Amino acid sequence: MGKIISLNKNNSLLVPNNPVIGYIPGDGTGPDIWKAARKVIDHAVAIAYNNNRKIDFKKLPAGEQGFHETGEWLPETTLKLIQKYKIAIKGPLTTPVGHGMKSLNITIRQYLDLFACIRPAKYIKGVPSPCKHPELIDMVIFRENTEDIYLGIEWEAGTKDAKQVLSFINSKIPHRLEDNTTGIGIKTISEKNTKRIVRKAILFAIDNNRKNITIMHKGNIMKYTEGAFLKWGYELAQSEFKNTIITEQDLFEKYNGKIPENKIVLKNRIADNMFQQVLLRPDEYDIIIAPNLNGDYISDTLAAMVGGLGLAPGANIGDKCAVFEATHGSAPKYANLDKVNPGSLILSGAMMLDHMGWDKPADIIRTALQKIILNKQVTYDLARQISGAKELKCSEFADVICDCISINSP
Ligand code: NAD
Repeated sequence: MGKIISLNKNNSLLVPNNPVIGYIPGDGTGPDIWKAARKVIDHAVAIAYNNNRKIDFKKLPAGEQGFHETGEWLPETTLKLIQKYKIAIKGPLTTPVGHGMKSLNITIRQYLDLFACIRPAKYIKGVPSPCKHPELIDMVIFRENTEDIYLGIEWEAGTKDAKQVLSFINSKIPHRLEDNTTGIGIKTISEKNTKRIVRKAILFAIDNNRKNITIMHKGNIMKYTEGAFLKWGYELAQSEFKNTIITEQDLFEKYNGKIPENKIVLKNRIADNMFQQVLLRPDEYDIIIAPNLNGDYISDTLAAMVGGLGLAPGANIGDKCAVFEATHGSAPKYANLDKVNPGSLILSGAMMLDHMGWDKPADIIRTALQKIILNKQVTYDLARQISGAKELKCSEFADVICDCISINSP
């Protein structure tokens, strides 16, 4: 029987040796990659702690499987249990495009106030990359996870509500919007939510000896949302971290371009420029903070740069609980084929272990994954790009990692 993780007064975790953690297998390829990831996580924990620690994974219904079992796509009990357990790990959940229900992933993030979507993009040796120097890529994205256009405040063209909103807008602007054929979506960015993601990113940069932080924004066009994100971000950095943060402007005007010891440089880039910057000068970027939509886009770009979505992990973290998940979606055409790369969910599992303070099994997993990739033992997505590779099924990839962990354990 597992024990429930508790929180200290400062919201840090008190993790027992046999913590209960929730899991949602997910839709499409989710069950395949979850099975593989769970095997690796369980094995790494057993080896790291000599069988003295074990996670008690409890299944939580959600998505298609949840609907078949309970008649609900995302039962409230699932959300309440994630709050109770403090940690969950999930496979991807499918969302219909252009119609139907709101994304379950977004509902989970918003309901649980998981305001920080943290996605590292670090090159793993041996992984084929479209970049000339992928070894220079080592960035962590902090994506604001609770607002922006993801709040889903929208009105379909031609509806009574859309016409009402348009009538207000048309009374405020010089060029009339056509009120029968214009759909409306609302973008919101608030000071509170901006400041807490910026604070989280700066604290991470300090704890992990990172050298610079870049706020990615489109503030030249969307002045009171993305522009405000930039403004509030700088305000927070300069008020709460004035002994640590220097701006890029100060770096050149006061420090002759040389970063003083123990300082972190704060920069900003307009979103379109940011995409070319990470491609052309990856070594100049370290931590990226972005509003929700920009963060979503730049995450997949960086994932592609380090070898594709199959190896891109992610975490959604709030003050009271956290949900770990792959960056990719449910890739339905590969469902139940035991084919896709479980690396992304396995690495999300390693992030989860870091979050629990269980660094040893997290390191064991990353080391083993690196070794088998250098051995060219990979799933189809990488095998087709590596000459002489041995193509493994999803489940075989997990088996080979577990074997590698066993062989290398003392
Ligand atoms: P997707 O990430 O599911 O797949 C896009 C492509 O990426 C696939 O065709 C495949 O080539 C590659 N890919 C994805 N996962 C892979 C893996 N593990 N190994 C190797 N290659 C992999 O994106 P999509 O097709 O745009 O979306 C499908 C569904 O997933 C949609 O319903 C979408 O809403 C949902 N989605 C969910 C999440 C989430 O649960 N957090 C995130 C993104 C998309």
